[in-house]
Amino acid sequence: MSNENIKKEKLLISSCLMGEKVRYDGDDNLLDDIKILSDKYQLIPFCPEIASGMMVPRAKCEIKNINPLKIINEFGIDMTDFFIDGAKQTLHICINNNIKLALLKSKSPSCGNENIYDGTFTNQLIKGQGITANILFQNNIKVYNENQIGDLI
Ligand code: SF4
Repeated sequence: MSNENIKKEKLLISSCLMGEKVRYDGDDNLLDDIKILSDKYQLIPFCPEIASGMMVPRAKCEIKNINPLKIINEFGIDMTDFFIDGAKQTLHICINNNIKLALLKSKSPSCGNENIYDGTFTNQLIKGQGITANILFQNNIKVYNENQIGDLI
């Protein structure tokens, strides 16, 4: 860690927003504002789905049911345990590194903080949080998405 970073507040950031090609389709979601963010924060990139052992590329997943939780991929295979594991790992990273802020990719079944797809794989968004965004929120970590970046800089 550089001396410069020691003074900066830590910000957990979805790896795909940093330009890492970890999305289900092998692409990324690189942000234009990474330089501005890195001037202000010590960025900690993390992808809960990769951490849980999911591959790139991988089948698209959506949250089918909240209670009891069920997350399936587009072939109907139950992926719930991967998502729970990725969320728990993300929370541990935050707790162990005293991270209180996260910037996560919108609409993802892991990272979405406001909207998620409705579980029908028909491109329909509903209000709701991804599994990782939700576990962070429940543990008093503030979660922003890339459209709320103005609140961070
Ligand atoms: Fe990006 Fe989050 Fe999906 Fe990983 S799980 S690719 S960090 S949106």
